[in-house]
Amino acid sequence: MGGNFCLLHRAAIWGKMSFAWVELLMKILAISDEVIERLYSVRVRDTYPDVQLIVGCGDLPFHYLEFLLTVFNQPLFYVPGNHDPHYDPSHGHEVHGGVNLDGQVAMSKGLLLAGLGGCIQYHPGAPNQYTQWEMYERAYKLLPAIFLKKLRHKRPLDILITHSPPAGIHDDLDDPPHRGLKALNLVIQMTKPRYMLHGHTMFYKHNLKNHITRYVETQVVNVYPFRTMDIEG
Ligand SMILES: [Zn+2]
Repeated sequence: MGGNFCLLHRAAIWGKMSFAWVELLMKILAISDEVIERLYSVRVRDTYPDVQLIVGCGDLPFHYLEFLLTVFNQPLFYVPGNHDPHYDPSHGHEVHGGVNLDGQVAMSKGLLLAGLGGCIQYHPGAPNQYTQWEMYERAYKLLPAIFLKKLRHKRPLDILITHSPPAGIHDDLDDPPHRGLKALNLVIQMTKPRYMLHGHTMFYKHNLKNHITRYVETQVVNVYPFRTMDIEG
């Protein structure tokens, strides 16, 4: 009897712990590069009822992002890709209700987020394309803001949102538009985000063996075309 009580008691504690654990997890919907009909549907909320944060990794029509933002009624943070226009709210080049996190840091739902959009330059002058050197400059501008927010909120950088992959991870050296950005490796090394979510490269030429790669202390996740993730809040 004592043993049974003990087991039941343990089960009750474990149940509470599991429940608390589930409560601590946050469901993220991350999207990039391709409109997915299953998501662009009024029934998407039935399919994914517990999405709490939406992350856009670029190259998506703004009406798609605005649709998801409206249906889920949850915060949306995004960065631009090379097929998006230059950010210009005066010309409607923004996602209404969403936050363009390019070169910015933000807190949302207890998570510290930073963003750096764009990809390697392959057409000079085209929107959201940068040389390796230009991207280093953008990274150096962003780093102080990340360090300050980490200190202020006493927590790690939870998610780095980018369009391009870092150099040597999920990229394709044989294809100039799909070479990774070295500055992103630097940002990861210096800020140690828990996750980096990116798009831009698909399972092109089957060069990608896995969509998640651990780099330094970061899980680098290729979200193309979408992923749902449960992460600790
Ligand atoms: Zn792209």
